[in-house]
Order: sequence, then C-alpha cells, then structure tokens
Amino acid sequence: MKNNIYKGAIDYIEKKLEDYNEKPFRKDQIWLWLFKKDATSFDEMTDLPKKLKEKLESDFYIKLPKLIKTIKSEDDKTIKLALRMEDRAIIETVWMKEQNRHTVCISCQAGCKLGCRFCATARIKFKRNLEAYEMISQLLYFKRSNLIDRVVFMGMGEPMFNLTEIEKAIEVITSDYGLTISPKRITISTSGIPHGIVYIADKMPKIGVAISLNSVSEKTRTELMPIARKYPIRELLNAAKYYTDKTGRKITFEYVLISGVNDSRDDARHLLELTREIPCKINIIPYNPIPSARYKKPDSFEIDKFRTYLMSGKATITVRFSKGSEILAGCGQLGAEL
Ligand code: SF4
Repeated sequence: MKNNIYKGAIDYIEKKLEDYNEKPFRKDQIWLWLFKKDATSFDEMTDLPKKLKEKLESDFYIKLPKLIKTIKSEDDKTIKLALRMEDRAIIETVWMKEQNRHTVCISCQAGCKLGCRFCATARIKFKRNLEAYEMISQLLYFKRSNLIDRVVFMGMGEPMFNLTEIEKAIEVITSDYGLTISPKRITISTSGIPHGIVYIADKMPKIGVAISLNSVSEKTRTELMPIARKYPIRELLNAAKYYTDKTGRKITFEYVLISGVNDSRDDARHLLELTREIPCKINIIPYNPIPSARYKKPDSFEIDKFRTYLMSGKATITVRFSKGSEILAGCGQLGAEL
C-alpha cells in the first residue's frame, strides 16, 4: 500500500533511504522538492537518480489535503481555507496580511476538547490531533500564492496537547530545506497549560509563547475556560515567569475582552498586579462574536477605557482587532461554519 510522502518525508524518510540503500543526504533533496519547490510529481525531482524516483513512486503518493472552501475578506487581507484530511477530518487555517507581515494561523487539532466558552471550535466534536505533515500542508497551500513570514499555532486545538507533532512541524518550518522561517517568527498559543510552557522554555527556547489569559479572577477565568479549574492562575504565571527567565524573551498574554465580563477597572488593576514581575506584552483582543453566543463585543469606548487603565503599568499593551472577523476567521471563530 502506498503512503503519503509528506508524512513519510517527516516521519521516517531516513529509514526508507536506508532500506533503499541510498545516502542520507537524499532526505535534504526530497525535502527541498516537497517543501520548498512544491513538486507535485516524483518526475520533477530532477536531481534524484531514476532508480530512487521509481522506488519513491512505488511506495508513496504526493497529496495535500483536499481544499473544500476558500473565503477571502473584501480587502483581500485575510484568507480562510477549510481543508479535508485523508480520514475526512476537516480543519480551518487562516492567512493574514498586516502592514508588512504575512502570518499563517495553523490548526493543530481537528476540533478541541477544552470547551472555552467564547470559542467556536469548542462547539465542534474533537476528532484527533493533527500530524506534523498535516500542519505543514496548511502552510503549503498558502505558500503557493502568498508570502509567509510568521507562523502562529493559534488555530483550532490546544497545541500543548500535541507538542511532539508540533516539534516535528517546527523542524520543517525552520529548516533551510523546508520553509526557512526563523524560530523567532513562530508562536505557540496556549489556553494555559503550565507544563507545556515549561517544555517550550527548555526544549524550544527560540519559539514565542502566547497565553490566552482572559481574566485574572479564578472564578471568571474558570467560567470562560473550564480547563482553568485544573491549572490555577498562580501556577500558570509561575510557568510564564520560568519561560521569560529561561529564554530572555517576553511572553504574550492574550486577553479576549468581553463586554461586562472581564473589562472593569478592577480587572485591569488585578491584571497589572499579577503580571508586574513578568516581562510581557498584553494583547487585548476585542471579543469576536460567534453565532448564537451569549457574550457581547465591547464597544470602542469600553476598549479604550480598558486600555487606558492598563497603560499605567509597564507592560506593552496592544489592541488586536482580529483580522477577518467578518469571514469568521478571527480569534475564537474557527470552526463556526463546519
Ligand atoms: S480557544 Fe483554543 S483551547 Fe479554547 S476551545 Fe478554542 S481552540 Fe480550544
């Protein structure tokens, strides 16, 4: 039975080359053809010996997931794709252009188990972790027609529950034989799994981390994000501090601002107090409504007020109006149409 070469190239090409009696450097050539030159047939791989191409041809096929939907925002600055994997699991992925930055937000799971109340992905059934090659395939789709200079693991799913595959995907993203994107331009976003943050600090210190904090009140945070019951805020902030101490990098706290839920002056004050010791950036993301949700998007006055409270601290504060919210491609909206 033939297998998908994208999976083979990431997971076991070394072993295959050994079986074929080929030199290990052939792996680099195969990666170049697949990940950099977008080859769609083994015939195109002109620097591989004929015999090797024939062996590859008999063991593998070259196939990306099926593109089932493309939605573009009116200004062409956001593109959302829905892709169907070989087992029919469907995921979404988003490309965004902001000033001179071109970012792809990739999914690491089909669905998500964590049930954050403000997130559309939580409403679709969790199917499984994605494999590294399936994460890379999201980038390969965009790469053919768009620039990519940043990658964020911020789409569907909780990355900390799929770190082994993410590490493999990062190897391809950063490799000179892959996408050649600097690790400093890669961010893993988590709902707040402390041991995952510590793992990244220890094993992938060049990778950025963003924590979806959303409240510093245990009660409100648990209401918004049920996983918070397992990981108290103090434990999470200790992991954040460990990351900043170990890597010398700032950490990002994402704060989905929801009208009447987490946007008071006290919320801002506690947020500043608790993050004071941690070199960080606080990213306020005005809530993106999802169909039939009970939360309300804050108006510009509420957003401004909250930002002004935070400005009195020393953290860097940004307000990120999610790109593509009109096509349900903003933060927390992926899966709303699946
Ligand atoms: S916000 Fe992230 S972790 Fe929470 S349900 Fe959505 S995808 Fe899962």
